[in-house]
Amino acid sequence: MMKSNSATPFCKVCFQPFSPPSLKTILDRDPCLCARCFREMGPVNLCYTLEGIKTISLYRYNEKIKGMLFDLKGCGDYEMAKVFLVNQKPYLKHRFRDYYLVPAPSFEPKNIERGFNHVEEIFTGIGKGYIHAIMKIDGIKQADLNYRQRQQIGAHLTWNPKANVVGKKILFVDDLITTGATAKACCHLLMKHGAKEVRILSVAKTPLRQNHRK
Ligand SMILES: [Zn+2]
Repeated sequence: MMKSNSATPFCKVCFQPFSPPSLKTILDRDPCLCARCFREMGPVNLCYTLEGIKTISLYRYNEKIKGMLFDLKGCGDYEMAKVFLVNQKPYLKHRFRDYYLVPAPSFEPKNIERGFNHVEEIFTGIGKGYIHAIMKIDGIKQADLNYRQRQQIGAHLTWNPKANVVGKKILFVDDLITTGATAKACCHLLMKHGAKEVRILSVAKTPLRQNHRK
């Protein structure tokens, strides 16, 4: 049995204690993800371009990621937000230190209902802070759209007239990239409004063969 003055830390995904504790979990003040769960999440750090825009997706979209995103988005499990980037954050903080983050547009009433914007919670701590440049004008869900409808996503987006991205380096962040239609439409808006440079960072990327299924 493990003796400890404080409560035994446990993985926030599988709820198992870190045993045997690794050097990382001992040194880490707030360990939240065990090595097995991290492996099951399928980290890939995929680098590719979407219409010429440099993009990084940290994981392949699989059942594990799907379940974790559902816990966060659907069930409002706020603690889940910090798990996704726990191992990549030091690098990402350094890499994007002079970028402003623009979160994928969400429909405000949904966030109010949930109590938080899940994308912002995941990427918090990276870059120079958030600029809420783009909003959704309705509660349309990407998952309910077919491939052709997704390509028309721009019609559901609106620019926040108070947002200023002129001359700024922008990192567009989202949880999931499927066809990339939302990310591309948003990046076009950002460039149109004067952003100096635009990059995309997502938690996960669906394999190409899944793109046309929904
Ligand atoms: Zn675990």
